[in-house]
Amino acid sequence: MARTPATADEKLTGYRRKRDFSRTSEPAGDPVASAPAAAPRFVVQRHRARRLHYDVRFEIDGVLVSWAVPKGPTLDPGIRHAAFHVEDHPIEYIDFEGVIPAGEYGGGDVIVWDAGTWEPGEPDPAAAVAAGELHAVLHGAKLHGQFVLVRTGQDSGGKEQWLMLHKHDEYAVSGWDPEEHPRSVLSGRTNDEVLADPDRMWRSDLPAGEASIALKQVPQGPAPDELAALAELPGSGRWRVFGRELKLTNLDKALFEGSADSAPITKREFLAYTAQIAPLTLPYLAGRALNMHRFPQGAASKGFWHKELPDWAPEWLTRWENPEADPGESRTYLVVDEPAALVWAANFGALEWHAWTSLTDRPHQPSYALIDIDPGPGTSWQDVLVLARLHRIAFEHLKLLARPKVTGRRGIQIWVPITRGPSFADTRQWVEQLSRTVGAVVPELLSWKWGVRDRAGKARLDYTQNAINKTLVAPYSPRPAPGAPVSMPIGWEELDDPTLRPDGLGLREAPRRIAERGDLFRPLLNARQALPPLG
Ligand code: MN
Repeated sequence: MARTPATADEKLTGYRRKRDFSRTSEPAGDPVASAPAAAPRFVVQRHRARRLHYDVRFEIDGVLVSWAVPKGPTLDPGIRHAAFHVEDHPIEYIDFEGVIPAGEYGGGDVIVWDAGTWEPGEPDPAAAVAAGELHAVLHGAKLHGQFVLVRTGQDSGGKEQWLMLHKHDEYAVSGWDPEEHPRSVLSGRTNDEVLADPDRMWRSDLPAGEASIALKQVPQGPAPDELAALAELPGSGRWRVFGRELKLTNLDKALFEGSADSAPITKREFLAYTAQIAPLTLPYLAGRALNMHRFPQGAASKGFWHKELPDWAPEWLTRWENPEADPGESRTYLVVDEPAALVWAANFGALEWHAWTSLTDRPHQPSYALIDIDPGPGTSWQDVLVLARLHRIAFEHLKLLARPKVTGRRGIQIWVPITRGPSFADTRQWVEQLSRTVGAVVPELLSWKWGVRDRAGKARLDYTQNAINKTLVAPYSPRPAPGAPVSMPIGWEELDDPTLRPDGLGLREAPRRIAERGDLFRPLLNARQALPPLG
C-alpha cells in the first residue's frame, strides 16, 4: 500500500485528460493532501449521467480506483454484472453527493449509495488490479462480504471490460437488486431528491480540496452592530455599512403598506432587508447594468424607470457608460459590484432591482435565457402552475439546468443559465420555440397576441424579454405591493406544494425562508451549458 504521492498523481492523469479544467466542475486532484486512512475505504456512488450506472471505488494508494457498473453491485452470487474500469478519481470525491453541471463529463446527479471500509484480498491491491483480478471484503451499509472484480478483455475502443461478482458467503442474498435500495447512505435521499435540491456541486476545474462546492451557503449580511446602528439613527443620518458611509434620508417614511394587519414597512426596514440580502443577491447583479424601478413616494404611488446614475452619486459606485446610448438616452448606469451599492440604490428609492441579462463587457451576449410566464386577468394561479410544470418537464427532457422563481406578483419566471456566445436574437428565438411547443399542450390558456386587450385575459409566454436592456426583476428584489412581496427562487418540487403562492413571502418573511432553504439560484452561477437545438 505504500506508494509515493507522485505515483498517485500519475494515476490521476486519465481523470484530468477527460475533463477540461478551464471549463468543467470536478476537482483536479491533489494526492499529496490526502492522508491514508486507518482502514482503506470504499464508496459506491449511484450516478445518473448520460446513462445510469454505479461507480464502485476503492481507496488504493491515495486515489480511488474505480469501476463503472451499469447494473450495480449485487449480493446475489448467481449474478455477474459487467464492470468497466475507469480512470482513478481523487480521494476527495469519496463523500461527494450532489450535481455535476450539465454538458460536462459525467454531468448529472450523484448519491453516496453505499460506503464503508474494505479489506484487500491481495497484499498489493494495485498490482492485483494491474494483473486483472481484485478480491475485496466489503464492510458497508448495504454491501457486505466477499466481492471479486475480474478482467475479461477489452472492447473495440480499448476500454477494459471486467465482471463484478459476489461470492457464496454468509452475506449472499439471491435475487438482491440494488435498484430496490435506492437511498443514499449519507443523506437518506434518492437521486431525484438530490437533483431537485442539491447541497453540493463538483467543480473539477478546481483543486480537489476545493472542488466540492456548497450550494446553499448563504453569504453573511452586515454585522449586528451595523444593523443596530441603522435602528438607532434618527430620521436621517450617516450609516456605515459594508465599509462604506451612506447618507440616508426619510428613514421613518412608510414605503409599503403592511400585508393583512401588519404595520407599514418603513424605509428603515426596507434598507435593513436590502443590506441583509445584498451579499446573497450580489452575484445576480455584479458586472451588469442596473435599471432602477424607483418609487420615491412609496410603493402605492406611481413608479418610474430610472437608469441614468446621477452625477452627484458617490465616487465609489461602479459606473458603466453604454457606448451605444443615443443622445437623450441613459448613458451612465450603476453597476452593483459591492453590497453597499445596492443599499445606496435602495436609499435612492429603487424598490425594484432589474439587472441586465448581459454583462457590461459583452452587452450583446446574454448569460441567461429567460422564460416569463405572464398571467392575464383571466389566468388563475393553477393555470400558472400548469404552465410552469410543463416547462419543468421540457427542461428535464432537454437535460438543461434551469430554476424557477415566483415573481412576487402573479407569475413565475424560469431562468436558464447559458455559456455566453449566442446573441439575444438567438435566445429569444430559442425561448419562443420552446414556449410555443409547451404552449401547444394547453392552447386554451395562452394568447400570443401583443396587445394586452387582444389577449382575452389569457396568459402570455413572453419570450420578447430576451433583448438587450430588457430586464426581469432580480432574485430577492421586493415588488411594490403591500407587504413588499419578494421575487423568491423556489425548488421545482415546490410547484406541487399547495401552499405555494406567487407573492407569499414579504420582505419580513424572506430572510427566514432564505436561512432555511439557502439560495436556490446558486447552481445557476456555476452552470456552463448551451441551448440545444429543439425538435
Ligand atoms: Mn460515473
